[in-house]
Amino acid sequence: MRILVINSGSSSIKYKLFFMPREVLLKKGLIEHIGERGSSVKDHYSGLKIILGKIDSVSAVGHRVVHGAEKFRKPVLIDSIVIRKIRQCSEIAPLHNPANLAGILACKKLLPGKPQVAIFDTAFHQTIPAFAYIYGLPYRYYERFGIRKYGFHGTSHEYVAGEAAKILKIPLEKLKIITCHLGNGCSISAVNKGKSVDTSMGFTPLEGLIMGTRCGDIDPALVTYIMHKERLDVHSMDNLLNKASGLKGISGISNDMRVLKSRLDAGNKRAKLAIDIFIYRIKKYIGAYAAIMNGLDALVFTAGIGENQKEIREKVCRDLFLHFKKMPKVLAIPTDEELMIARQTYKLIKG
Ligand code: ADP
Repeated sequence: MRILVINSGSSSIKYKLFFMPREVLLKKGLIEHIGERGSSVKDHYSGLKIILGKIDSVSAVGHRVVHGAEKFRKPVLIDSIVIRKIRQCSEIAPLHNPANLAGILACKKLLPGKPQVAIFDTAFHQTIPAFAYIYGLPYRYYERFGIRKYGFHGTSHEYVAGEAAKILKIPLEKLKIITCHLGNGCSISAVNKGKSVDTSMGFTPLEGLIMGTRCGDIDPALVTYIMHKERLDVHSMDNLLNKASGLKGISGISNDMRVLKSRLDAGNKRAKLAIDIFIYRIKKYIGAYAAIMNGLDALVFTAGIGENQKEIREKVCRDLFLHFKKMPKVLAIPTDEELMIARQTYKLIKG
């Protein structure tokens, strides 16, 4: 069976075509600048047409959808009701869900009758218990607006936790794992017996670890304080927290860990501070998650920084497990969200 995996963003479509269940990658590519001025690709429909022109045949499509809120706990076959619900979730994911939906609607037109499956970034974290996902705010905000922790990068955390179990040759159901997805966006998850029991991102992907340009955890009172001091409106404040903070904001140099590392090696103090804060925050979360799971069997690093930056992994782990009765295994595992989507699509279609 040939499964096309689509990751549709606001101005790009990434795709991979797999031969399943053998998990052979047949083709991959990226269409960029969709809808941008001067671009020959005017919308997602035209973008997808180009993609389909490059591949022979498709049996089914798996779509990455960022936000499924509480409506989706697992992958689903897409029909008109699912489309309506994904649209409803756009209210809390205005940057991502409409773009994901554009890819789904284009596929429906261009591949009529082919099964299409939606896989949600939030779904894996739907097993997190209420005491971990409810914020210390008036409860009515949860009831009225769905304000709670949702968590993201779910497909990646689930994939690498599964791969870790395979590498360790121990069933996932017997393992306590902490997965660190460290890319431009960074999040960390506690995976107990294969289920996510907590994760660092929250209602939005802003909470938790220090990221490339996002601040992660801060005192919430700072938001109104800075808005007042700098006379910022809501949009500018949102921009500051999401695009001008994190590694970039602290260092004043870059959001890219490779650049920071080379500046650190050249003796730059702010690059060092940014990296130290980045590492400290990860350590803190690992300690917390080992505590809530009452132990830890494996610590997994993935994504751009997690897979490639050995020194960061070493600094995170330095002295971390000194007081553990049993030393956890530490693994770096390349993530493959598209393969996970293909697997889940195949599984759902095969029933
Ligand atoms: P995204 O979250 O956008 O998918 P990535 O997973 O590629 O991003 O992560 C980007 C981060 O990973 C950057 O800070 C970059 O410096 C780092 N990174 C990516 N590839 C490498 C590499 N080969 N060696 C070292 N660092 C890398």
